[in-house]
Amino acid sequence: MQENHSLHNALRQVRHHVGRVMLHGFSVSGLATYLQLPEYDFCVDMGECPVSSIGINHVFLTHAHGDHSRCLMRHHSLRRMMGVDKPSIYYMPADLVSGAEAWIHSEAVFEGVPEQRFKLPEIVGLNAGEKVPLKYRKDLSIEAFPTRHAQVGRQTFLPSMGVTLFNHKNKLKDEYIGLDAAGIIELKNQGISITREVYDPIVTFMGDCLGENLTDPALASIWDSEVLVTECTFVDDGEESMADKKGHTHISDLVKALEKYGPTMKCKYIVLNHFSMKYSSDHILGALQKKIPEAYRDKVIAFI
Ligand SMILES: [Zn+2]
Ligand SMILES: [Zn+2]
Repeated sequence: MQENHSLHNALRQVRHHVGRVMLHGFSVSGLATYLQLPEYDFCVDMGECPVSSIGINHVFLTHAHGDHSRCLMRHHSLRRMMGVDKPSIYYMPADLVSGAEAWIHSEAVFEGVPEQRFKLPEIVGLNAGEKVPLKYRKDLSIEAFPTRHAQVGRQTFLPSMGVTLFNHKNKLKDEYIGLDAAGIIELKNQGISITREVYDPIVTFMGDCLGENLTDPALASIWDSEVLVTECTFVDDGEESMADKKGHTHISDLVKALEKYGPTMKCKYIVLNHFSMKYSSDHILGALQKKIPEAYRDKVIAFI
């Protein structure tokens, strides 16, 4: 295998400005994935924890595989070491919470932390379909949705979830638009609710997932986000069934999704991450050029 020194350095951050999102981080299959959105105070996964992650207060974990989860507690402890008192919040699929707590406790025992000094960080388990405001950013909410990634039994998959980040606002109800300040105060005094909640999807992260998730009708709303970040571990011809077997997406799955949703999708940018470490940058860019239909080529960005 050809070694790609700069491509494989998880601390050398990739940066892309996509729509309303500045995406900083790194994502190579099996090595590490972490995707920071500094201006939204949000990070997805923590497969590596560079110092630039320390100031981020909200972290979402898609699934338990080490290349995504390994540095979750390093984030927590580095913050304390650097004097950040504000507790960071770790959001994750509800099914992962008890395993994560046991893992965090074992790590503390391994490091010799006395039992009386051990304290769990703030962990929030998410269930499908719940919109949860970010603790320190009430203008933002997240909603997690289950994905199918690594099969562990006949019908069973490892818990894994994607997540959408929404801008959350209260807007005046249509019937009250145009009303003057006195009219609005009058309605408020009568206890009438004059606003409705509006959720504007900024970005969706799929996490690791089988390509079939992209065309699953139950997940059609992923295509409503301005930016969709989705894995594309494999890009070569003949690797389709291996991608399936390993629980990952092949570029042909994305092409199928573009055929299905392309003409109607609101999504403006599709960021592909988590490429296999065996490919060079040129190989990835060449494959995108060859396989993404021309009409969508400007939309698709490789996170390398
Ligand atoms: Zn992975
Ligand atoms: Zn995985």
